Amino acid sequence: MKLTELIKTTRKFFSIEISPPLKFKSINTIFKAVERLLVYHPAFVNITYHPLKITKIKLENSPLDYIQQKHVHPLGLCAAIKYKYNVDVVPHFVCAGLNKVQAENNLSDFSFLGFENILALRGDPAAANAEFTPADGGYEYAYQLVEQISAMRKAVFMNNIDAHAQIDFCVGVAGYPEKHFQATSLEQDIKHLKQKVDAGADYIITQICYDMNHFAQWVDAIRKVGINIPIIPGIKPLTSVNQLLTLKNTYNIYIPPELEKLIYDSDARGCAYEVGIEHSIKMSQHLLDAGFAGLHYFLMGGGKDIEDVVKMLFNTP
Ligand code: FAD
Repeated sequence: MKLTELIKTTRKFFSIEISPPLKFKSINTIFKAVERLLVYHPAFVNITYHPLKITKIKLENSPLDYIQQKHVHPLGLCAAIKYKYNVDVVPHFVCAGLNKVQAENNLSDFSFLGFENILALRGDPAAANAEFTPADGGYEYAYQLVEQISAMRKAVFMNNIDAHAQIDFCVGVAGYPEKHFQATSLEQDIKHLKQKVDAGADYIITQICYDMNHFAQWVDAIRKVGINIPIIPGIKPLTSVNQLLTLKNTYNIYIPPELEKLIYDSDARGCAYEVGIEHSIKMSQHLLDAGFAGLHYFLMGGGKDIEDVVKMLFNTP
């Protein structure tokens, strides 16, 4: 089902987001995490997408460089979860590293496998502090990918194998309540978000945000510029100092000082997990009370933290 339809028919929902593992791991670890949370009826399951990391490997007697992929490709994982569990899966689709023709090919594979939704993203620069470099013939910004997906809705393709084909994804985009780390200002970032919406985005999933005042101000600001599509707040329970450091340093997430202190103090007392879960339940309830139809939980690890939050707020098994 298209997410926009699903959002209309489901009063309060939650969704989860899972990352494909590194290559050479087993899919069973992912199945276990999904099964743990499926009991609570998530409305949909997002699967993230790791852009190709170009590690060039020279083979003996070959003039070519080969590209190595660190993570499992999400296409198979998305299909496995969708058809094994009969649940709506939202594949993330990142245009970094792809040209337009490759993007079209890959998107048509997702459509072929029955996916009706896609989250359209640009992807990060290849190295921290570097500028983003698009692939030759690829896109610099996510709005251009959204334009391509919108054109597919009108059966405009580069590959005209079937002139009558039409691929009609319901398309989501990322939003950053505390601004994207590369944006020069929050106002500019909101303008760029509007560009994605004008290009055809149907809904927004937000970056993790722990400051509810910032979040509310951002929602007001984007509504003021005419962004009226559904917003699904992104949430990650913060349950240890290590996690806090990863979120800050790897994902550029702002942690308010009072929350940082709470996690450091409780970590020292050996109860950061319990304190973090309680904080996440309160924050989730606050967002539901503020009128958001659903919440999107980022899974890192086996999903016990998310289970401990959603079982207090959503359908019990
Ligand atoms: P864009 O919307 O293109 O924005 C990127 C930057 O460019 C911003 O600073 C924006 O302000 C600026 N910008 C946009 N348009 C213009 C313009 N016209 N002129 C000038 N500047 C402009 N990454 C992955 O690799 N895989 C994933 O699966 C993944 N899932 C994600 C899920 C969510 C919910 C979120 C919030 C992020 C996710 N990301 C993922 C991270 C995302 O790829 C990075 O944050 C990336 O750096 C930006 O992607 P974007 O789609 O927001 O890009």
